Amino acid sequence: MRLDVVTIFPDYLAPLGLSLIGRAQRAGLLSVHVHDLRDATEDRHRTVDDTPYGGGAGMVMKPEPWAAALDRLVEDGRSAGAGDRPLLVVPGPGGTPFTQSMARELAEEPWLAFACGRYEGIDERVHEHAASTLGLRVEVVSLGDYVLNGGEVAVLAMVEAVARLLPGVVGNAESLVEESHEGGLLEYPVYTKPASWDDAGTVREVPAVLLSGDHAAIAAWRHAQRLERTARRRPDLLAPSATVGTLADLDVRVATAADAPEILVLQRACWLPEGQLANSWVVPPLVETLDDVLAALPRWTTYAARVRGDAAGPGRLVGSVRCRLRPGAEEVWETGRLMVAPDLQGRGLGRDLLALSESLAPPSVRTFWLNTGRTSEGNIRRYKRAGYRVVQGPGAVEGTVDLVKPRR
Ligand code: SAM
Repeated sequence: MRLDVVTIFPDYLAPLGLSLIGRAQRAGLLSVHVHDLRDATEDRHRTVDDTPYGGGAGMVMKPEPWAAALDRLVEDGRSAGAGDRPLLVVPGPGGTPFTQSMARELAEEPWLAFACGRYEGIDERVHEHAASTLGLRVEVVSLGDYVLNGGEVAVLAMVEAVARLLPGVVGNAESLVEESHEGGLLEYPVYTKPASWDDAGTVREVPAVLLSGDHAAIAAWRHAQRLERTARRRPDLLAPSATVGTLADLDVRVATAADAPEILVLQRACWLPEGQLANSWVVPPLVETLDDVLAALPRWTTYAARVRGDAAGPGRLVGSVRCRLRPGAEEVWETGRLMVAPDLQGRGLGRDLLALSESLAPPSVRTFWLNTGRTSEGNIRRYKRAGYRVVQGPGAVEGTVDLVKPRR
């Protein structure tokens, strides 16, 4: 990958020669070219800024040096064989927020150019020049909702996030998979030796499960920690509106004991037709008690989908699903108690809750599993549409069938 950075402070980018990014450059995985914007000026004072039209505080970066610098950058890169034209990233607090998924997209580009603004920013016509005259794709990208003095710090952060995704830059590629923001969750807590640390009289222990050697238990613990940590620190990430379309109107959160009574009511309403079809009143979701529902909460990750609340309190519970790694089998992801209130069925909410469950499966999972009534033809049809196939033979519970789907 080729990276070009235009700035009035080339020394600001010196850290790109250090650590993993520096090593990647020396290994030929990445080439970084830093250009001084002032080299593209023509006056004696190497002027890059002027007062803003329309008045107001501060200075604005002039268009001519920027156009000249970008023209030269594109020409130089082309003659060096970087490709036809770079994607131009313009850091700015008013841009699209930079995220891990944007980092992944940028890592697919063979050639990126960055234009570091200073003062009040760059004359807007530079964007037009880049897009129309040079034919570049231009993306204004923000590091976060705060204002920096210049684009250089933003470029350092973006380049680091992008470059570490390039093959060969980070030694252990597996370490990239379980990091924060991969799979939409934050990372689990990490520990190293000693297992028992005497911190000036207070003994601090590593969680026992990590010393157990039981890989399935460790994977389950880590996954639960990721969910708990994300729910506590970044509940916005757990809102499936980020990943799932039609659930976006609902408030979807990890269920707590406070949700249990309504979950019990909803599951009885949803499984009543199942009982009628099977002519059986011993279907587990129908006969479970409130204590049973409460006891299941720590064993599963359960989601409660509610109509958005207001000042009067939370909205009505209209859907739920629960999921977990199969105990003792870290490659199987179980989904259960998938339910949608009778008046909201047929709107795709069940499909989205199922997709939500699958999206939470950790990387160890190879197979998605669920179970439904043998006579529930409608459910079986819907699960088949979602890519599941019926497993021959009896299901996990009497009168049911199991369905599985390989992870792709
Ligand atoms: N007047 C501009 C505004 O309100 O949008 C802010 C200009 S800021 C002082 C100067 C430069 O810092 C910007 O042109 C941009 O390059 C960079 N910058 C500031 N905050 C940034 C952020 N949150 N993300 C990315 N770049 C930022």
